[in-house]
Amino acid sequence: MATSYDVVVIGSGTGGYVAAIRCAQLGKKVAVVERQTALGGTCLIWGCIPTKALLEHAHALKVIRDAKEWGITIPAATPVVDMNQIQARKDRIVNGLTRGVEFLFKKNKIDWIKGTARLAGKGTVEVTDGDRQTLEAREIIIATGSSARSVPGIEIDHRRIITSDDAIALKEIPKTLVIMGSGAVGVEFASIYRRFGSEVTIIELLPRLVPLEDEAISAELEKSFRKQGIKSLTATKVTKASTGAAGVEIEAQAADEKSHKLTADLLLVATGRGPMTIGLGAEDAGIKMERGYVKVDELYRTSVPNVSAIGDVITLGDRPHPQLAHVSSAEGILVAERLAGQDVRPINYDHVPNCTYCDPEIGSVGLTEAEARQKGYDVRVGSFPFGVLGRAKMAGETEGFVKIVADKKYDEILGVHMIGPRSTELVAEAVLALRLECTVEELVKTIHAHPTFSEAIGEAAHATHGAAIHL
Ligand SMILES: Cc1cc2nc3c(=O)[nH]c(=O)nc-3n(C[C@H](O)[C@H](O)[C@H](O)COP(=O)(O)OP(=O)(O)OC[C@H]3O[C@@H](n4cnc5c(N)ncnc54)[C@H](O)[C@@H]3O)c2cc1C
Repeated sequence: MATSYDVVVIGSGTGGYVAAIRCAQLGKKVAVVERQTALGGTCLIWGCIPTKALLEHAHALKVIRDAKEWGITIPAATPVVDMNQIQARKDRIVNGLTRGVEFLFKKNKIDWIKGTARLAGKGTVEVTDGDRQTLEAREIIIATGSSARSVPGIEIDHRRIITSDDAIALKEIPKTLVIMGSGAVGVEFASIYRRFGSEVTIIELLPRLVPLEDEAISAELEKSFRKQGIKSLTATKVTKASTGAAGVEIEAQAADEKSHKLTADLLLVATGRGPMTIGLGAEDAGIKMERGYVKVDELYRTSVPNVSAIGDVITLGDRPHPQLAHVSSAEGILVAERLAGQDVRPINYDHVPNCTYCDPEIGSVGLTEAEARQKGYDVRVGSFPFGVLGRAKMAGETEGFVKIVADKKYDEILGVHMIGPRSTELVAEAVLALRLECTVEELVKTIHAHPTFSEAIGEAAHATHGAAIHL
């Protein structure tokens, strides 16, 4: 006999597991079907957590290498990086967090059904391997996420031509690494492996690095990467990659017709991720799809009643849906609350923070200067460099700036963009400012503690009014 649940969630990533916990908190009987041997999905196992753990190691190496600057003498002339130990520590962090989700499931009485889920008719989910069984559900939430995808003509072999799933687990530091794509994943791995000693080249199809960020942020990152010895080939397309005993032979064509031939130990393909719906039976169940993504409305309802979808697997509206852990979790909470009959409002995607943990870090929210102008705002901007701050000088992290994009007429803050130390933390203040529809004046009047990195935000607000104190 089928086991009945109020809610069956398919997938235990940051979308699925958070939705499940919120449903359980609201009194629902919940099961989550997950086919991996651990809970937590991309973020915990292959994404946010392992990459940021490796970035912390890279940062530790930077501090040790700069020991002299800090007045510390280390007897060994050159620090030695032990990738086995680094990987072991990273794995301990990942395992601790995935087991933490298991603990939360037990605490909230959520059943983890181990296997692959398939939609099998109205209110029915079939588990096709592992704990084979049929589940009945009043409500189903699809949270099956995404997987790395390549581009036509570039074949991933997971040895020489790899994805981020492989790049987080390297036991040897490649001498030469070429990265295709300069989104968050591409530039984060560039920072990690450059710091560990690889010769890194990034090839980006669009004219600038981190092309979704404000243009000033891209320019600052490119400048910093150049200083660090990371090469950037922008407006350049990889046309061919073939593997041999010596590595990967890569051919690329620049927009100005210049062609490049590169040889590397590894080619990391970081050109984006595609929806994970194989074997799910979504189309057979009558769910409307678009380019393989599950189509949802602004409250995450699919075209089939009682089936919702959240996270990386969805598409909604006419703009690209951000594939971010915190977005999937926010959507999961919204769906759980809707299913519990609460009054829920659509998420404003203009208020989603974007964090890129490369060195220097990037944090941004809201409209870029170009987007604000395109939308017809009478724009005014103000910037403040971290290098002027006492706190940044003490930390030896003086690169970058905070830039505010505001509307002249009402003084409303439209976007905040920062690159430099702690930017991925500092952006939280900007997110709240946008959510509360703050004016620049309110940010000017907000007292920022001294000496802190956050003073750059207060000063950028002053600068937007043409009156930065320390410039
Ligand atoms: C290298 C990298 C770094 C990243 N860094 C960040 C970051 O710093 N910050 C950030 O916000 N985001 C980051 N992301 C993105 C983030 O990981 C994803 O946006 C997030 O994990 C999406 O969550 P999700 O729940 O939609 O899907 P996923 O996390 O992909 O989870 C889906 C789960 O569903 C399971 N599943 C799929 N199909 C089935 C099925 N039929 N039956 C049973 N189970 C199934 C999968 O096994 C998986 O566990 C990163 C991604 C990568 C690749």
